[in-house]
Amino acid sequence: MSDGKTSSLPACGDKQAASALSVDEARKRIESGVNPVSGAEKIALRSALGRILDEDIRSPINVPSHTNSAVDGYAFVHADLAAAGTAALRVIGTAWAGRPFDGHVHAGECIRIMTGAAVPAGADTVVMQENVRIENNMIRIGTALKEGENIRAAGEDLATGQVALTSGKQIMPPELGLLASIGLGEVSVRRRIRVAFFSTGDELRSIGQPITEGQIYDSNRYTLYGMLTRLAVDIQDMGVIRDDRDAIKKAFIEASENADVVITSGGVSVGEADYVKETLEALGEIGFWQIAMKPGRPLAFGRVRGATFFGLPGNPVSVMVTFYQFVEPALRRMMGQTGTHAGMMTYKVRCISRFQKRPGRTEFQRAVLERDVSGDLIVRATGKQGSGILRSMSEANCFVILPQDSNAVEPGTIVDVQPFYGML
Ligand code: AMP
Ligand code: MG
Repeated sequence: MSDGKTSSLPACGDKQAASALSVDEARKRIESGVNPVSGAEKIALRSALGRILDEDIRSPINVPSHTNSAVDGYAFVHADLAAAGTAALRVIGTAWAGRPFDGHVHAGECIRIMTGAAVPAGADTVVMQENVRIENNMIRIGTALKEGENIRAAGEDLATGQVALTSGKQIMPPELGLLASIGLGEVSVRRRIRVAFFSTGDELRSIGQPITEGQIYDSNRYTLYGMLTRLAVDIQDMGVIRDDRDAIKKAFIEASENADVVITSGGVSVGEADYVKETLEALGEIGFWQIAMKPGRPLAFGRVRGATFFGLPGNPVSVMVTFYQFVEPALRRMMGQTGTHAGMMTYKVRCISRFQKRPGRTEFQRAVLERDVSGDLIVRATGKQGSGILRSMSEANCFVILPQDSNAVEPGTIVDVQPFYGML
């Protein structure tokens, strides 16, 4: 831990809200406690989706590579236009995209030109086909045009040698297209980080096993699987580990030997058996935090041997909230991504329902962002907000983030909204 403060952090049993960490403080401590992994590999462009660039990319070519027409129309010499903006020009040929016109366009002449076709020698302006009258083999231009209008200059998007993308950028669909547009079939990306995760709890059963009274199916490993898979990391699902000192110790040792990051769910809340804490304290340097947030109050963070460790709460909604608010930004930093990722953006939106709340904790209530009949963006509450009710995540499409000190929020108030899905 780089901040070296974990051992003095509020312990698991603290009940006083005053000793709890704010969401911002927890985020800062986590951010300063993780570092980007080193190591890169060169991979094929198609395999690079979601990965983080490990080099600045300079364009080896001009984009566009040739000066070309932005519209379907006629290319001509601008000096031909009379002061009134009119001209009568003879059509001497055609340029298609990928099939240029080889000749020279002289005064009094023009060629028919398609979008993307190279502008021939002599011509300097293109008029849209909608703005000409065609008579026999002549066109009449009746509109004023600026010199160079409707023409895209070679290198106007990217000049040869210009930096197209910088190291630390995540490769998403626009970047795949951009890299292809400059002819690059391979890129150097950071190595994938390895993330091992397991669930703890004697009550947990895996899919396919019968459940009896007091037992539940393990769902956290599935939400974690989903959230991690979207991140282009290597994942290792270690299953359910019993609430047993030796089993837990063995799992932590194995996980920390094989992974850069270990994520667990369950076992860090008040009232859970103490050996998780004891075992972890013997193996690493870990803070057991109470965070002033709802859901997701207990969280353990630190290092187990060489690996970064996140001990998430057991409740299914708490797992998702703490993952998105703390773990994902930390993983992105470890992956080598620079800058804030778009998923953390919040927007101010008017709410149309009441949000129940007491001061003391930042709340991440599940809500629906939509448009009302007049087209205005509004946000409304979903049903029950218990931290065990996973359906509240599925029915919502955003969090409404209510600040730590705020009371209940009445309809009509502007609130902070964090959408679940970005476009890319
Ligand atoms: P814990 O933090 O271990 O005390 O767990 C808090 C609550 O979350 C309890 O009701 C657990 O049964 C539940 N829980 C813990 N782990 C899981 C899991 N992997 N899947 C579903 N529920 C869980
Ligand atoms: Mg438990």
